[in-house]
Amino acid sequence: MSIVSLVKCEDYGQKKVDEAVRRSLELIGGLGSIIDTGQRVMLKVNILNADRPEKAVTTHPALLRSVIRCVKEVGGEAVVGEASGIAYEDTERAWQVSGLKKAAQEEGADVINFQKVQKVENPKNRMIPTLHIAKEVLSSDAVISLPKLKTHNFTLFTGAIKNLYGCIPGFRKKELHRLAPRPEEFAELMVDIFSAIKPKLAVMDGIVGMEGDGPAAGSPRQVGVILASRDLVALDAAASYIIGYNPLDVDITRVAAERDLGKANIDEIEVKGTPLDEVKIDDYELSSSINVLLKKAPGFILFILRFLAPLLLKVEPLVDPLKCTGCGACLEHCPTGAMNMASNYPVIDRKKCIKCFCCQEFCLERAVGIQYNWLARKLQM
Ligand code: SF4
Ligand code: SF4
Repeated sequence: MSIVSLVKCEDYGQKKVDEAVRRSLELIGGLGSIIDTGQRVMLKVNILNADRPEKAVTTHPALLRSVIRCVKEVGGEAVVGEASGIAYEDTERAWQVSGLKKAAQEEGADVINFQKVQKVENPKNRMIPTLHIAKEVLSSDAVISLPKLKTHNFTLFTGAIKNLYGCIPGFRKKELHRLAPRPEEFAELMVDIFSAIKPKLAVMDGIVGMEGDGPAAGSPRQVGVILASRDLVALDAAASYIIGYNPLDVDITRVAAERDLGKANIDEIEVKGTPLDEVKIDDYELSSSINVLLKKAPGFILFILRFLAPLLLKVEPLVDPLKCTGCGACLEHCPTGAMNMASNYPVIDRKKCIKCFCCQEFCLERAVGIQYNWLARKLQM
């Protein structure tokens, strides 16, 4: 049995968040049972890109402040780190706009924009036998993942484990995406990274989550919860259950459980605090990408669709020229070089596109949408 704490918290008032985070940690045995005095604790926030907190793209600064305070109370030294987009300068801007740099510095925590890497052998993955993980993450005494609860058009859901992708600095993220283009392969990669980092804890910002076209182009949605657990697999399973997924449909969660890194079956998770079903949302809008549609298809249809999906279902990124400013951020982030700035806006080479939706993720103008054909729309209903 794994333990996940679940505490209701209706808004980002600092006092309320402080109380809820403290309670969530007490329910799993207290932070003092996880962190020793004098330890350097890396707090891995989610700063996907330069969006303000109310957009629900990034971990909220109030949650970061609360966790820093808790780490200091048990005698730990808190540092906050991230490598958000592809370019290092993007990360610096995102730190500012998200409010996370200010929050960290005002609470007395150092801020690290991950750049230096350490090689980690990854022999079980033939495609990716070596990982390059941020040095400061691996040299910390403890890592705490501070994810935002969001849907994800490529991985269905992004939580405590997926948040660790930001421990891969700079352009290496793009290269890894190219080497692991299918959701199942990417899940294996994410679990490799998770196994290498071995976080001791996750505290999730589920006060306002993101629904729809997450992790960046969706809409904020009130969920009103904070979750904490030493088992990141169980935490992700519980959070994805709340918003309406079968946790085992989320490849990252499933693969992590299959590798015995935590519990993904809700029956094997003890929830302390508020019961899961009390906060479960029935009409949370899930991702609408092809990966989600395939998960919804039952039995033999799924089997057939796996082979025929590329022919029958069209769920593709589409640039809206009226919204596009021609900034080129999507081209920079496209792992397969499928985008070209042919005129004033990017055009997509459909043969090269792996439908990872990174272009949508990193477009701050929200100019990248998704186009569906008739069958894909029918399956969505
Ligand atoms: S689609 Fe978005 S990211 Fe790409 S060039 Fe246009 S505005 Fe920039
Ligand atoms: S065009 Fe967009 S969805 Fe296609 S591979 Fe590039 S980033 Fe991924």
